[in-house]
Amino acid sequence: AMDLNQSYRSLVLAVAQHPSVKHLMLTRGKGFSRRFVAGDTLEEALQVVEALEADKIHAILDLLGEMVTSEEQSRQFQAEILRLIQALAAKPYPRYVALKLTQLGLDLDEALAVELMQGLLEEARKTECFVRIDMEDSPRVDATLRVYRRLREAGYTNTGIVLQSYLKRTERDLEALLPLKPAVRIVKGAYKEPPEVAFQDKRLIDGQYLVLAKKALENGLYTAIASHDPHIIGEMKRWTTERGLTPEQFEFQLLYGVRRDEQKRLAAEGYTVRAYIPYGTDWYPYLSRRIAERPENLMFVARSLVQG
Ligand code: FAD
Repeated sequence: AMDLNQSYRSLVLAVAQHPSVKHLMLTRGKGFSRRFVAGDTLEEALQVVEALEADKIHAILDLLGEMVTSEEQSRQFQAEILRLIQALAAKPYPRYVALKLTQLGLDLDEALAVELMQGLLEEARKTECFVRIDMEDSPRVDATLRVYRRLREAGYTNTGIVLQSYLKRTERDLEALLPLKPAVRIVKGAYKEPPEVAFQDKRLIDGQYLVLAKKALENGLYTAIASHDPHIIGEMKRWTTERGLTPEQFEFQLLYGVRRDEQKRLAAEGYTVRAYIPYGTDWYPYLSRRIAERPENLMFVARSLVQG
């Protein structure tokens, strides 16, 4: 396997923003996007959920969309996510959605994001639906954590945050959050980040991942171990077994379309497993990050563009 570092990721994410690349992908990349995106509509996403449930893999539904630039768009996204939460209410399986705060206007007005989140959490708690706040790029981490704290102060417990092991600040963030006993998801981090704020060396990022996941679990936080990395999954299986942790204390999360066999295997072994299932028409930024994670994906996309 290739040793991936931040410079490959940065290059791909920079190229992806080029208008002609974007145009090509939007017009011809849809077939490829189906590898990682369930469909344009909620109905298509729910069909994917049914298929995964048959393998005991639970769903995290994510309506694609981020970095909105108007209040109107933010409110439209909130309405769509409400529709998602209501659609899940009728389903027999665990209810779980993910969203991004810039989808709810974080860049425009933090108070707007808080207000729209409250509306969603109010609806979600009627049906025991969990709402995960994804973590975005480093300039938005402080605001994201502030909004989360506001929601907890307002009494909402059906929400959680994400911590990224590539950021140098994250261990301090985790420590500061411990008294709140947040539900956390640990990830490596998917954005283009400069060396001032983020480790660039894969070994450091991986090492820090294990430090954070273990620290969260040692402090009794319900922890989602979100990674496809065989080394990380293996070490966390070993460590949680050694400590006698149970499926009520942690879970594994992977992305729809990535290592499906491993998802099935973990579920068959009795672990709680969730797949993150994006849907919607705003798939370009999400897809760019998936390509930036893995050189092989760039090859697949190049081939599918040529073949049309
Ligand atoms: P890597 O070292 O990148 O990959 C390990 C191995 O996994 C690779 O060798 C390959 O075999 C396989 N693999 C990894 N990625 C792919 C891929 N795209 N396609 C095919 N195979 C692949 N990031 C954020 O910044 N914020 C979030 O809120 C966030 N939420 C996430 C939620 C979930 C459920 C998951 C699984 C990831 C999330 N991420 C998020 C993305 C994360 O930060 C990483 O970019 C991503 O998971 C790749 O890192 P990795 O841990 O899988 O390890």
